[in-house]
Amino acid sequence: MMVSKYPDEGITLKLFMRVWEANFFGAVLKIRRASQHKKCSECTKHKFIIKKLAHNRAAMQAQAKLWNEHLSLQYRDRVGYWNMRAASRLGTDASGRKVITLICDSMDRSKWSVPRSAVLEAKELAGLQRPNLDLTCIIVHGQCVAAFFAEPSITKGASWTIELLAHVFHVLTQQGYDLRSYECSLHGDNCSKEIKSNSVAKFLALMVARSRLRKAHIQTLMTGHSHGDIDQMFSLMGSYLATQRELHDPSEFREAVVRFFANNSVRPAERLRLVERVSQVRDWKSWLHLGAHKSFLKGMGGPGAPHVYTFQRAGDAQTEGGKYMTLKVYRHRLLGIGKK
Ligand SMILES: [Zn+2]
Repeated sequence: MMVSKYPDEGITLKLFMRVWEANFFGAVLKIRRASQHKKCSECTKHKFIIKKLAHNRAAMQAQAKLWNEHLSLQYRDRVGYWNMRAASRLGTDASGRKVITLICDSMDRSKWSVPRSAVLEAKELAGLQRPNLDLTCIIVHGQCVAAFFAEPSITKGASWTIELLAHVFHVLTQQGYDLRSYECSLHGDNCSKEIKSNSVAKFLALMVARSRLRKAHIQTLMTGHSHGDIDQMFSLMGSYLATQRELHDPSEFREAVVRFFANNSVRPAERLRLVERVSQVRDWKSWLHLGAHKSFLKGMGGPGAPHVYTFQRAGDAQTEGGKYMTLKVYRHRLLGIGKK
């Protein structure tokens, strides 16, 4: 382009910048800002070792091979998620069994300070301490997207997640889904506040045992590589909220989120949108503990913990050609590493 547009000029940095700004920058290409998300410590370690090994080609290649193995493991985790997401959008998996795939995550609290107003830019109000609302979203791929927010006085833990899951299952049932014939796959990051906790595992196990679900999975992505489509939606929501200058109380925040979801280009595959303000949460954690205090999964959190948990009734496992088992645990979904 530089040669064809400016044939008489020599190729210089100045000419390159002129062509870049006139034809590419902003209009065609955008340089992405540095990500706010925490980097994977394993990747950071490999990157720095490779940098230090620049003088030794063989050692550098060996280190790059190790890094590649790590990246291929996280990629396989993601492929597992993408497969389940596609099956949920289609309604059935490759074997024709009904599937729903959910992903659950919480948004950065700093964007939810209440109240929000141009008046607060005044110097006298600069030190005003404002409470932050908490927002958790659940996307049921191909079906619905639900946003729940609450004030900080409500504890956000396993009971909070279970309350939201129970509500989403209830709404799906009201929409005509007979969840008894569905396989439910619940995805998220490795945070125990969200899905990776014994209480959530007990809740799904209870749903399966009582035949409310045919089968259930908890699947988490590798720590540091858990950034996904739900975070992309949070980023869009954050940008939209930044344009709303006057939001004085939680109900106005709710209306802003409703306006955000009214845009059809946001999550076009999920036509049902829920925005709920949660005022109370049942104590699911204690209730589940009372009912099943002797049953719990050891080592659900921390490094080396499994990424995939499957809950299935023993009788169904037999009819599906599996062994007589109710719980399967895998380190990574597609490899089945560390099967217990
Ligand atoms: Zn990594």
